Amino acid sequence: MSEQCHDRRVMATWVGWPLLAMLSMMPLAAAARQGPTAMATDAAKLSSRVVAPLPKLEDFRWRGTAQQGGVVQGYRPASVAALWLGDIAISVADDGQFLMAFDRDAPSMMKLTVRMKDGREHQLAMPVSAGKWRIEHVNAPMRGAAASSAEFTRRRPAELAQIQEARAQEVVSDGWRQIFQWPVTGRFSGFFGAQRIYQGVAGSYHSGTDVAVAAGTPFVAPADGVVVLAAASPFTLEGNLLIISHGMGLSSGFLHCQRLDVKRGDIVHQGQRLGTVGATGRATGPHMHWGVSWRGQRLNPGDFVERRVSGGA
Ligand SMILES: [Zn+2]
Repeated sequence: MSEQCHDRRVMATWVGWPLLAMLSMMPLAAAARQGPTAMATDAAKLSSRVVAPLPKLEDFRWRGTAQQGGVVQGYRPASVAALWLGDIAISVADDGQFLMAFDRDAPSMMKLTVRMKDGREHQLAMPVSAGKWRIEHVNAPMRGAAASSAEFTRRRPAELAQIQEARAQEVVSDGWRQIFQWPVTGRFSGFFGAQRIYQGVAGSYHSGTDVAVAAGTPFVAPADGVVVLAAASPFTLEGNLLIISHGMGLSSGFLHCQRLDVKRGDIVHQGQRLGTVGATGRATGPHMHWGVSWRGQRLNPGDFVERRVSGGA
């Protein structure tokens, strides 16, 4: 019942995508190959049956901006059967809605492959705008010592396998359709995508958003989902790690937790208490590190909270 209400609100906020609309007006490769003569001779054949035109980007309905670390939602035209972003197969819901997202380091132009219900396939060029990342200078050597300790080396492969397995789990949830909320609010102490430079040496970028709050502060589910990992004992880096899948390959990770109040397989609802914030694993103080990923793409959690606001209601 609330679902209907939700859908109506979602429909009202769908907006055009001017940049994409502009670019998709460039002649498609297929159209360019087919000269006027070919079109004339085909006209007789086509007159006896209706062939759906190959859709352009503006024939989809979009919400959000295609930018590094960002997410967009779309509705496919009825003639479209399947979609791929680069090599990633996009899951499309029964109502035609889908989600796709762009890694922090996604290229400036990506390929959207469209397979029509009649079997034809074609590709659309999808421009991806550049993200703006902070540079954080750290006056300390890159943390190599801990990372190369014997215990870390021994434990890490199994931890990474668990994380990978959890993220790959397909669950049934409509959380991916929701406007997300922050799991906890407070001072931002780390920004998604920030490039860390350790005494002049570039380290890896920050893969989530950090919110610094007192240890023991409860945190909640940013959207509906299913628990796919609830670490029974602290991971070396992530500490007490919780991962929730929101459906369609979209997942949230919560790091350094003090305590987890849910277990693997639990269905959780937006706003439900999941546990408390801590400083377990590799953390210099209590904070919530919230990371979001979609089919291997690292995403900016803030984009999931704020995209509907910028879309206009
Ligand atoms: Zn962090």
